[in-house]
Amino acid sequence: MNEDADLIPISALQHLLFCERQFALIHIEGIWSENLFTAEGKVLHERVHQEHHEKRRLYRQEFGMAVRSLKSGLIGKCDLVELYLEPSGKIAEAFPVEFKRGKNKEEEEDKVQLCAQAMCLEEMLDIMIPEGQIYYLQDHRRTRIALDQALRKKVVQLADRARELILKGETPLAIFEKRKCTTCSLVEQCMPSSTGLQSKSVSRFIRAQLKATESECDK
Ligand code: SF4
Repeated sequence: MNEDADLIPISALQHLLFCERQFALIHIEGIWSENLFTAEGKVLHERVHQEHHEKRRLYRQEFGMAVRSLKSGLIGKCDLVELYLEPSGKIAEAFPVEFKRGKNKEEEEDKVQLCAQAMCLEEMLDIMIPEGQIYYLQDHRRTRIALDQALRKKVVQLADRARELILKGETPLAIFEKRKCTTCSLVEQCMPSSTGLQSKSVSRFIRAQLKATESECDK
């Protein structure tokens, strides 16, 4: 893999883990919609992603650092990378720090994002990164996240699945899950009954629902 266009955005892994249909709507069909949660997150990340860095003698902070891994086929941006230097100036250690609105709800999506960023940094800086940190705004503190083998395997599996779905170009049908769908920014595009929108996926959704209803009536 050597073209940026072939790389999967790290954010796509989070969408995929949250819901395969949401991933397909965004990354295959190109649909996006803001809700309160995404808008607040966007404002926070825009503030953090204003690229700048702070430097002390053996310590550096890089905000909004672009990262990519050709090995894992991923591309993204880190909110913050903390770098510890050797006296020679060589990078000895690095930690990605991700900023999140809200409280720590132990969501796997957050850990996957952080781990994917670390895997990119490891390749770029040729070092090992055993842990990263997530700063939850409402908790006012950082949570340390161990980047273990299970988490790394999950990142690779998700990247492979994302490539597979993009290659197929198919959007899975909607399966309503209260916990997810009530917070999903694409609920109106995904569940057309609330809006009557007529996108390609929405039409497919309607056809599938009609088919399901017809087979129920045939019983
Ligand atoms: S509304 Fe539910 S099924 Fe539809 S994309 Fe969102 S989470 Fe997935």
